[in-house]
Amino acid sequence: MKVTKDRIVSLEYRLHLGDGSVIDQSAPGEPLAYLHGRGQIVPGLEGELEGMSAGESKQVVVPPSKGYGEHDARGIQEVPRTMFPPNAPLQVGMTLTAQTEQGDMIPITLRELKGDSVVVDLNHPLAGKTLHFDVTVREVRDASTEELQHGHAHGPGGAH
Ligand code: ZN
Repeated sequence: MKVTKDRIVSLEYRLHLGDGSVIDQSAPGEPLAYLHGRGQIVPGLEGELEGMSAGESKQVVVPPSKGYGEHDARGIQEVPRTMFPPNAPLQVGMTLTAQTEQGDMIPITLRELKGDSVVVDLNHPLAGKTLHFDVTVREVRDASTEELQHGHAHGPGGAH
C-alpha cells in the first residue's frame, strides 16, 4: 500500500539543518502517525512522501518556501518588558509560547533585551531554514471513518 491522500502513515523521522545538529526526531520504536494529504506536516516533506511504501527510506531536503516559510523582517518587534511576568528569567535566544488575540498559540523567540523593552521574533523558529529530513515509512493503512471525521490519526503515534 502506497502513501496517498487520506491514508494513515507511520513515520520515523530525524530533522536536522544540514550541519549535523538534530532539531527533532521520533523516539526509537515510536513513529509519528499522521493523516496524509491534510497539511499536518510541512508541504515539502508531505509531497516527497507521496507514493512511498512501508519499509522505504528517503532523505528529503525542504527549502524554506515549502517548510516553515521565509523569515519575515516584520516579525521582529519591540515590546514592553511588562508583557512578560516580572520574575520570568528572560534570556536571548529562548523561545516562549504566546497566545494571539485569535487564541492561537505561537512560538516567539527573544532576540534582544533592552532594559524596559524586549525585542521578539514572531517568525516560526524554523522560518528561513532549509530542513533536512531522514525518513522511514513504517506503515501505511487506510484511515478509519472516525479518523477522517476528526482529521487526524488515532492509535500509537497519533491523537488521543
Ligand atoms: Zn480523534
